[in-house]
Amino acid sequence: MAASQDVKDYLACWFQLGKKVIFPKTHKSRCPAVVLGTRGYSQEFERLWAEIQQSPQDCYLEGTDQSVKELLSEAWEIVACARCTLPVPAGHAHIPCPGCPCADLDLWPNLDLPLPHLPVNGILHLQRLQCRLLDLDSEDA
Ligand SMILES: [Zn+2]
Repeated sequence: MAASQDVKDYLACWFQLGKKVIFPKTHKSRCPAVVLGTRGYSQEFERLWAEIQQSPQDCYLEGTDQSVKELLSEAWEIVACARCTLPVPAGHAHIPCPGCPCADLDLWPNLDLPLPHLPVNGILHLQRLQCRLLDLDSEDA
């Protein structure tokens, strides 16, 4: 079973490549402009994730057939795509579904571009350093 965090990270990666989440009932599709915040995910992404969790049966990632609800069920797991290494849904026995979301991205995988990434504590560490430097600055003034 895919953990909710795995599904969240999966969506976050693909949003960074411009994929949208589709809400068929309301004919809406959404992709947050900013996925990563300074400490984890952006507010915009967290709000969208909250919305997705409210009706997981009604939304899925553009280019895939599995609703978020299905991904959260026993039948699915999130694994790394053999072609692009990004997280993709896989059924039982870790067989990746034929439709990796990367299949319709012409310029993907592109090894010249940084891969989408997940929030890391390193960013927080950098921020603390920055704060300390700013403190030092103001002491000098
Ligand atoms: Zn792929």
